[in-house]
This record gives sequence, structure tokens and C-alpha cells, in this order.
Amino acid sequence: MSAVVLDGKKIGRLIEEELQNRFIDLQSKGVSPHLAVVIVGDDPASHVYVRNKELACERCGIKSTRIDLSEGISEQEILDTVNRLNSDDSVHGILVQSPLPKGINESLITDAISPEKDVDGFHKMNLGRLVQGDSSGLLPCTPAGVMKILDLSKIDISGKNALIIGRSRIVGMPMSILLAQRGIDATVTIAHSRTQNLSEICRRADLVVAAIGRPEFVKSDWIKPGATVIDVGINRVIDSSKKSGYRLVGDVESNASDIAGHITPVPGGVGPMTIAMLMSNTILATEIQSR
Ligand code: NDP
Repeated sequence: MSAVVLDGKKIGRLIEEELQNRFIDLQSKGVSPHLAVVIVGDDPASHVYVRNKELACERCGIKSTRIDLSEGISEQEILDTVNRLNSDDSVHGILVQSPLPKGINESLITDAISPEKDVDGFHKMNLGRLVQGDSSGLLPCTPAGVMKILDLSKIDISGKNALIIGRSRIVGMPMSILLAQRGIDATVTIAHSRTQNLSEICRRADLVVAAIGRPEFVKSDWIKPGATVIDVGINRVIDSSKKSGYRLVGDVESNASDIAGHITPVPGGVGPMTIAMLMSNTILATEIQSR
């Protein structure tokens, strides 16, 4: 059996196209959606992600401004930048690209962003709203993108066993809340580095969301035949046959596609969905601030 590939690039582009009407509505009111992206340091992967976000803004007509800060910058200087963007009425969305250099408290920076401009959806107010069962606000982009893939691909998860591997603040934890919410109704298990018998737990899962950050950590023989596999991981592995010297692999062994029913590819799965949801959040943030 070969799994149906869930094409995040195609679905992401559809979502971006569907934002056009809302974009035109905003423009007709004299409002131009504007995203500010702050990037600190020279991490090559972060620069690729930020470039992809800028390209998505271009596709959607959203103005983007990039603020490059040097690696050695202080926490206070990053906070000053965020505060300046908070008080700039022409900016509707603020994103501080993760990871930040060692020694910088990411939560402090995230929580300094005005909740209405928090297009990453990581501010404690936005996460708190989600915990309260309200998913109508600014949601974390990657878990929201996963929910969209499942919804638009008509994968029924109500009452099914969903395993999320990883409990980070940006992916695993909000993912577990979204899947367990009323109306979605998955039976959620969340695994992490202390989980015992992970392979056995995985073999019982109808849906596996892998967000670990370890290349091909989830083995294909852990996958229940016909299960849906969402591979969030993006890992660079050395490959001298590539011009770049590396290739991207997910957190799930690639031959899991022989066993799964549906699977997201890496690249081209969750990554483009994350970007599409960032565009969606930027439009929503602009609408919220223009009411
Ligand atoms: P984090 O490093 O913040 O979290 C990783 C999680 O994996 C932790 O909860 C950790 O457990 C868990 N983990 C680590 N080792 C094991 C193990 N041996 N067994 C079980 N669980 C384990 O990563 P992120 O959530 O930020 O990102 C995860 C992956 O997703 C990365 O590859 C990242 O690049 C990718 N990513 C992709 C995005 C996209 O758009 N496609 C967006 C965001 C991230 P513990 O809590 O116990 O330490």
C-alpha cells in the first residue's frame, strides 16, 4: 500500500488564494496589511524561513518589513524593537523568528508582542484563549496548519487515537489542545523524551503528529497500517550529492509512506501550511485592529 500524499504546498496556496477577498475588503477600507519580521543572528535555516515568509507576503499582497538584528544584541534591545513595532499603527503583525540566540528569554520576547499583533499565536493571552476552548483567535501557525490539512483532506479524527510526539510550546502542546477540542474530539496522547514504550503507543495511533526535531526518529514499523502521519520535523542531514551539501528530512522514516494511509511529505507538507496560516493570521490581525 502506498499512502495518499497530503500536499501542503497545494493546500497552502489554496488558503492563500482564499485570503484575497478579505485582503481586498481591507484595502477598500484604506487598510494595507503589514507584517514585520524580526530576525536575530545568522542562522541559515532561519534566513530561509524568513525569506519564504517574505515571498508568501508578496504572493498575498501583504507588505512585509524585515528587521535584521545582530547575534550579539541584548534582550532589552530586542524588547525595544518589539515595543517600537507595537506602537507603530501601520504594522499589524509582528513575528520574531525562532530560535533566538542563547541567553535570550524567548517567552519574554513573545509576551512583549501586543496580543493583537501576535501572528505567531504564541502570546500567553492567545494560548490562554485556546486553552479556554476558543479557537477563533490568533492560533499558533504550525498546529493550525495541521488542523487545516486534516480538515481539507477530510480525514475524520473524531474519537480516534491521536499521538503527538513532542510537547513544545509552539507545536506539540497547542496541537494537543486543538485535536482534543470539542467538535474535533480526538483521543489525544502526548509523548516526549521521557515517554516509555513509544513504539507501542505509536502502533495504536490512528493519527501520528511527529514534532521532535530528530531525523527519521519514528520508524516505519511503528506506524499502524492506514494511519495518518503528519511529519512536522524539518531536519538538515549532510548529503554531498546535493549542491547545498544537505537535504531535508522529516522526523518520520520516509518509507512510512508504504504503511500509512495518508502522509505529509518533507519538504512540501507542514512547512508551506505553516506559512499559509501566518498569512491568514496576518489578515485576521489586520481585521481585528481595523474594527
Ligand atoms: P522542540 O525542540 O522545542 O521540541 C521537541 C520535542 O520533542 C520536545 O517536547 C521533546 O521532549 C521531544 N523529544 C525529543 N526527543 C525525544 C524522544 N527521544 N522521544 C520522544 N520525544 C522526544 O522542537 P519544536 O517543537 O520547535 O520542533 C520540532 C520539529 O518541528 C523540528 O524539526 C522543527 O524544525 C520542526 N518545525 C517545523 C515547522 C514547520 O513549519 N514544518 C514549524 C516548527 C517546527 P521534551 O519536552 O521531553 O524535551
